[in-house]
Amino acid sequence: MDKPINFTLIGRSGSGKGTQAKLLMKEFGDFCYISTGDLFRDLLKADTDTGARVKKIVREGGFPLDDLAATLWMHSFAYNLKEDQGFILDGAPRRVSEAQALDRFLEFLERKENTFNLLIDISREEAIGRLTKRRICKECGRLIPWVGEFKKLKVCDKCGGELITRRDDSVEAINNRLDYYDNTVVEVVEYYKQQNRLIKINGEQPIDDVFKEILEKIK
Ligand SMILES: [Zn+2]
Repeated sequence: MDKPINFTLIGRSGSGKGTQAKLLMKEFGDFCYISTGDLFRDLLKADTDTGARVKKIVREGGFPLDDLAATLWMHSFAYNLKEDQGFILDGAPRRVSEAQALDRFLEFLERKENTFNLLIDISREEAIGRLTKRRICKECGRLIPWVGEFKKLKVCDKCGGELITRRDDSVEAINNRLDYYDNTVVEVVEYYKQQNRLIKINGEQPIDDVFKEILEKIK
């Protein structure tokens, strides 16, 4: 039996990591999909000591305990990942300490060689454009991303309705997320690059071309 392939997906907010994760699942089938964001959202809902503490910290705009994210993935792998199943870790690791912890775990699972670390690369300017300029149809609610051909749309391509910009996040929150990437996540990119384990993908192409480049580079 071939060993299952696995992916980690890193990239700035707005790079389309989640979209590529969905395409990978369509192409290769049943992955164990893990998103740190989802795990934290579940934790905040949990009526536990840890859940309550993390909730307070997040509400005050702080960062929870360093080891927590990696602990949550490992817990999730331990209870969900089947022997013949690959995983997708969406938006992680975000710190070198997490990348190292993940590597140790992947060695234990004998999956390190079969794990592709994908960087979906878009510039900070592109990210800001995508996060602040995306539009929504006033009629049907369709979300029009600020990428490629979609930028040219004057009205909704599904129903012809008026398009309006609706920001989910303040400019400050967006800048904070992008600062975190530039200050911290970039070190993870360097960590994988130095070990020749980084696959850099141009994320500023149309969605299908981004996916084609991924398939090409993991052959
Ligand atoms: Zn519409």
